[in-house]
Amino acid sequence: MHELQIASDLMNAVLEAVKEHPNASRVEKVDLSIGRLSFVGDEQLRFCWGAITDECKLLKGCKLDISEEEVEISCRSCGYIGEMDVSEDPMYHFLLPVFACPECGGEVDITRGKGVTISNVRLMIDDGVEG
Ligand SMILES: [Zn+2]
Repeated sequence: MHELQIASDLMNAVLEAVKEHPNASRVEKVDLSIGRLSFVGDEQLRFCWGAITDECKLLKGCKLDISEEEVEISCRSCGYIGEMDVSEDPMYHFLLPVFACPECGGEVDITRGKGVTISNVRLMIDDGVEG
């Protein structure tokens, strides 16, 4: 299951980030952006996240704030960089589309929109100081 793997990678990444804050008592919220080409289901991811973090003291009850990341391509031939709308074609869920440069028809690299990125981790710091 795609989402379970992602949730577990996410958990490792968040725990890794929390290590830098030894006073953190809890992780309150994690902001994520999910690339449109990664086809991660928000609900499935939230479900898996809830399931795997339930046993973890730091992450129990932690919310996911999910936003979508547009797909960006960059052309190998002419250097064109631009966004690509991939939202409408359900075929993209089954086949990874081969994109061509809208300027020259050349081969492109997908530079954004393929993965899941953590943009922010909000911690509760237990340092005994008010504010
Ligand atoms: Zn091009």
